[in-house]
Amino acid sequence: MKYLIRNITFIVLALLLQQCTYSQSSTPAKLNTMDTSKKTTNPAYSRTDKTPVNVTDEQWKKILPADVYEVARKKGTERAWTSPLENLHDVGTYYCAVCGNALFQSDTKFDSGCGWPSFYQPISKSSIIYASDHSYGMDRTEVMCGRCKSHLGHVFNDGPPPTHLRYCINGVVLDFEKAKEAEKKYNADKQ
Ligand SMILES: [Zn+2]
Repeated sequence: MKYLIRNITFIVLALLLQQCTYSQSSTPAKLNTMDTSKKTTNPAYSRTDKTPVNVTDEQWKKILPADVYEVARKKGTERAWTSPLENLHDVGTYYCAVCGNALFQSDTKFDSGCGWPSFYQPISKSSIIYASDHSYGMDRTEVMCGRCKSHLGHVFNDGPPPTHLRYCINGVVLDFEKAKEAEKKYNADKQ
């Protein structure tokens, strides 16, 4: 009996320790802060409104943070390996950081090793629009947000199955939100 109690105490302690580590590592505070600032200062941002966004370049320049504006509206490219989303493996949805349109699910994200967040499939056909890009002497396909036409990155033919596509996306124009299921599981584990 004594052994049993000791064993149970040990298991409970081990579980408590495990949960403590989990709660420390699972919420990237930096991402949440970035999230809030984008949403409160941007009237075009909506996770539910599907109507096209018509905002002038001048207005975007005032609304968006400089790094987001440079990539989204000026078709810039963030430096490789700089996005905190590149190595993120949490379950959830990636939205357009400019307008809130849902773009990718985490289960289509893969480690491409190219230095930018990479996906093999968008969330739906209408979530992305495509354009030929012949800049810098290259023949590439540009991908833009289906709602606000912001530049997101490019798509290449060297991705994994089932699509064999690699959507190479600038992390600065992505907003990530953890799946509700994952949050529920996390909260249940905590109790
Ligand atoms: Zn958008």
